[in-house]
Amino acid sequence: MDSSDDEGEEYLFKVVIIGDSAVGKSNLLSRYSKNEFNMHSKSTIGVEFQTQTMEIDGKEVKAQIWDTAGQERFRAVTSAYYRGAVGALIVYDISRSTTFDSVNRWLEELKTHSDTTVVRMLVGNKCDLGNIRAVSVEDGKKLAENEGLFFMETSALDSTNVKTAFELVIKEIYNNVS
Ligand code: GDP
Ligand code: MG
Repeated sequence: MDSSDDEGEEYLFKVVIIGDSAVGKSNLLSRYSKNEFNMHSKSTIGVEFQTQTMEIDGKEVKAQIWDTAGQERFRAVTSAYYRGAVGALIVYDISRSTTFDSVNRWLEELKTHSDTTVVRMLVGNKCDLGNIRAVSVEDGKKLAENEGLFFMETSALDSTNVKTAFELVIKEIYNNVS
């Protein structure tokens, strides 16, 4: 961050997306950054990120949003992935309760690798699949409350809350540092 003069003010925040395989992490990112959704997305090798810019208080705020790119299958999301992160989306799939059960493990891993001030949001993705819902909204909310997380249900498929979720996290980070 550079605040040496008004024009040079710049914000760049690293945000990581974590959660079990196939919960929709990559599609949440592609929906937010490119307005794209892929029904048959394949995980690619290596860590990837997308940079998104938004304006807050008339200032340009950039979020560098990291996607695990499939590492989570091998339980080998490295400390480099978390390094410097000031925001995190912990994602589960509302139609698969095992992915919700894993949230605590992801929170532990996040705590191990990051600062306590990291802005965290619990994200129940695939809310378009209400007909095969396995995790209630109440259970999501309760967990988020107990752990002090923001909470939102999203759908990368129909775009519900995707922009809202990312922007809430980014605004919260901005509020904490400005
Ligand atoms: P990742 O492994 O967590 O990165 O998950 P992906 O983004 O690769 O998505 C896994 C699968 O779930 C893909 O077949 C996606 O098309 C599908 N998917 C992702 N998000 C949604 C969603 O919001 N709703 C539905 N119905 N399917 C989704
Ligand atoms: Mg992925």
